[in-house]
Amino acid sequence: MQALATGGQQGYLRIATEEAFITPQVLDGYRRLVAQGYDDPGFESLWGFYSTSDADRPTFIRDGLLDMGAQRIAHMDAAGIDRAIIALTAPGTHVFDRDEAVALTIDANDQLAQACLAHPDRFVGMTAIAPQDPAFCAREIERGAAMGMKAVILNGHVRDEYTDDPKFWPIFEAAEALDQPIYLHPQGPSRHLIQPFLERGLDGAIFGFGVDTGLHLLRLIVMGVFDRFPKLKLVVGHGGEALPYWAFRLDYMHAAGIRSQRYPILQPLKLTISEYLRRNIYVTFSGMPWEPAVKFCRDTLGADRIMYAMDYPYQYQPQEVAAMDALALEPAEKKAFFQGNAEHVFNL
Ligand code: MN
Repeated sequence: MQALATGGQQGYLRIATEEAFITPQVLDGYRRLVAQGYDDPGFESLWGFYSTSDADRPTFIRDGLLDMGAQRIAHMDAAGIDRAIIALTAPGTHVFDRDEAVALTIDANDQLAQACLAHPDRFVGMTAIAPQDPAFCAREIERGAAMGMKAVILNGHVRDEYTDDPKFWPIFEAAEALDQPIYLHPQGPSRHLIQPFLERGLDGAIFGFGVDTGLHLLRLIVMGVFDRFPKLKLVVGHGGEALPYWAFRLDYMHAAGIRSQRYPILQPLKLTISEYLRRNIYVTFSGMPWEPAVKFCRDTLGADRIMYAMDYPYQYQPQEVAAMDALALEPAEKKAFFQGNAEHVFNL
């Protein structure tokens, strides 16, 4: 297949907004946890496979995650991707003990910042964090911004805890203050959620990732994170992890629950759930290059809230870029989808 053009010949640059990498040090750490029988079923399912299997797919993915130079750029060129917004892959350093997590996070951010400096027109970085230490995260988000990072990656739950717990809110405070969007990326479902998924091989990207991440985002909304931090920008992939499709029922049942005071934990919010989706949330189509989903989110959230993503190297499919080029959107909306919205959200 002929390579797609970079450089904007089609009327827009293609910015891919949910691209992944790993450092050799984090991969070694994952391998050590797997070998030690680390007790986290989602991690064991994911990295027990990807860090050890010699099959074609995991080998390609490991090589793709590790390469921050010529091979990644060659693949971007072949797929017509002008710029990649890159983050430490799932589950980041969330699985390590605090001290190791902090050391690996700092090192990963240094390596990513270096790669972005070497390829400033192709790579954009997101700051990794170790939410086990929220005060560290706030400092690291500031350090990342000073190194040129344009967002923060939150790799899902934190050893089975979700970040709607106010102890994690210094992360949101720092991101909002520095106008750094937070990308909430999936990992395997948390321990209490995962068993029925694991039993049928559904815990990964096929479904479990989205359930855990949609739940995480919904928890943030109902616990008032976006009332406390109204300017916080949060990005989610995979067509919004199903929440846009649920928006009507979420609004209806949330209002009914508040009125009836069924759950003491649920307090009234300033906006409806769908209003937060349209004010604070941006949606990418990593792993979901599918016109009906894109158009649904365009219609329900707005043309200014949808962005292209490839999910390299997990879903490296150059032909999917051509399918997205063919989206039946107005030229201005398509430019916003591929380029303008990412430039705005990530302050490029
Ligand atoms: Mn991804």
